[in-house]
Amino acid sequence: MPDCFVFAPQRQPSLPVAGSRQCFPVRRIYCVGRNYAAHAREMGGDPQEEPPFFFSKPADAVVPGGGEVPYPPETRSLHFEVEMLVAIGKGGEAIAPAEALDHVFGYGLGIDLTRRDLQAEAKRLGRPWDMSKAFDHSAPCSAIHPASAIGHPQSGAISLAVDGELRQESDIALMLWKTPEILSFLSRYLRLQPGDLIMTGTPEGVGSIERGQTMECRFADLDPLVVRVV
Ligand code: MN
Repeated sequence: MPDCFVFAPQRQPSLPVAGSRQCFPVRRIYCVGRNYAAHAREMGGDPQEEPPFFFSKPADAVVPGGGEVPYPPETRSLHFEVEMLVAIGKGGEAIAPAEALDHVFGYGLGIDLTRRDLQAEAKRLGRPWDMSKAFDHSAPCSAIHPASAIGHPQSGAISLAVDGELRQESDIALMLWKTPEILSFLSRYLRLQPGDLIMTGTPEGVGSIERGQTMECRFADLDPLVVRVV
């Protein structure tokens, strides 16, 4: 580590790797918008004709393994969006769909926390989504399960419950753009790097979460991700 920094650099954000003592170093977080038809419709969009679009969160928005998340400032409408995570292990640009899964280290589960009121305002005014999507603690994430252990899931139940009440329930087989196409599209715009995390979009049923409530997210038979808003 060079000693030229004017203050200590931040610690490398990371996620645990399931079944090991290793960690996955998080480089960037890219999120897919409207990747389930029923969610696109509930947000007022037309799911049929759109290519995938992306937005991002800073790497240090991750909350590794879940736990407590503070209710963010400047919103009255914090929404949950449960999503499958794809963790990139090998970089590349202009990746062909047929090659894309070779670039995946593993999979997990995350919540794309959203200040829905600020997002609605940004949409109305044609402004960027950063303040609605890319705030502190906005990406609680599970451990990463290596593809070497679980393969490359193409189906699997995904759900989110609030205080025991099921709010989102779908299957990743219903994603409009599957993992290979997502990585192929994204890598046309930038070079994917090891450590990049992709949040693959949320199914229908998004809603608000209040202080004191607990979200329990499940994907296939992975360990649940539990997050309490404080
Ligand atoms: Mn989302």
